[in-house]
Amino acid sequence: MCKKFCNFAPQNGGKAMNKVLLISTGGTITMVRDKVSDALIPADIETFKAFMPELFAGDIQVDIEAFSPLLDSSDVNPDCWVRMAKTVYDRYNDYDGFVILHGTDTMSYSASALSFMLENLAKPVVFTGSQLPVGVLRSDAKENLLTAIEIAAAKDEDGNPIVPEVTIYFEDRLFRANRTTKRNAEHFSAFNSYNYPALAKAGVHITYQPHLVHYSHSDAPLLLHTRFDCNVAVLKLFPGIQQPVVRALLRTRGLKGVVLETFGAGNAPTDKWLYRELKSAVERGIIIVNKTQCNTGSVEMGLYAVSLNLMKAGVLSGYDITTEALLTKMMLLLGEQPENAKELLSQDLCGEMTID
Ligand code: ASP
Repeated sequence: MCKKFCNFAPQNGGKAMNKVLLISTGGTITMVRDKVSDALIPADIETFKAFMPELFAGDIQVDIEAFSPLLDSSDVNPDCWVRMAKTVYDRYNDYDGFVILHGTDTMSYSASALSFMLENLAKPVVFTGSQLPVGVLRSDAKENLLTAIEIAAAKDEDGNPIVPEVTIYFEDRLFRANRTTKRNAEHFSAFNSYNYPALAKAGVHITYQPHLVHYSHSDAPLLLHTRFDCNVAVLKLFPGIQQPVVRALLRTRGLKGVVLETFGAGNAPTDKWLYRELKSAVERGIIIVNKTQCNTGSVEMGLYAVSLNLMKAGVLSGYDITTEALLTKMMLLLGEQPENAKELLSQDLCGEMTID
């Protein structure tokens, strides 16, 4: 089932050029060293373009839209997600695919958010960035960006996009966005998808795995969802966690959803107070979803006796979802359709979790 596409031979056989829109939000890839503080700061888009003449030298037409100013991804928030998704939505018919340049620190959050915001997506939206700025000699910027552009433009022999979903391309792997986590602040291989295989690997050839790709099964037009409710929290359990901490968090005014990070297969201390606090929060209408602290594997409530109280309290299973995907899915569902949020959080919407 593997399809191989040569990295350096044009795929369009003389047909009209494929067009990709590059949306630059910033990140290390666009950064230079500040003369005063010596810290890395985003440069402007013209400086970035000057480092990347290759963008305009290939057989894919690349147009650029850039945030101004460009951002470190620590400053990317739901308003920025809306801006990115709206750009894709507004320019959807003009391009074969989209590449979003983004800092690596919060890339998995943004990319997960867009996977839920763009319903019925049928074109590639590929996030990428780099660990070293584009101007540094050893930078991973060029390889990451040029391959991401090639993936965004890639079509099969029938002219259909090969990976029409939101993805992250980094180092030599293409991952489903809502399965990713930033795993390394040092290595060029910054991301991993622990619970789902790579959708493509890039070496001399780009080897796609089409049977792993999530296709929108609807011919319906692209829909854009933009309302986020940020009244959510992550509660990470640890041995010795105290009731006042849990109570304070669960009684936060306006709180609507909680990602409960548990041990192993979804386990928690059996202290009666913890059960009472969780049950009371669920009864007050707060949605609590169980997400394991392990990178790999799934929540399996009921496997151990120490997870039975969570079930009794009305905590939902997050199966093998990432915290990034669960949090962004929860925020969007609470904003868009709060009455169905509980039900939809238990469903796989676009390949973000495996329910057995
Ligand atoms: N701090 C940077 C950012 O996330 C890190 C990077 O891009 O690698 O914007």
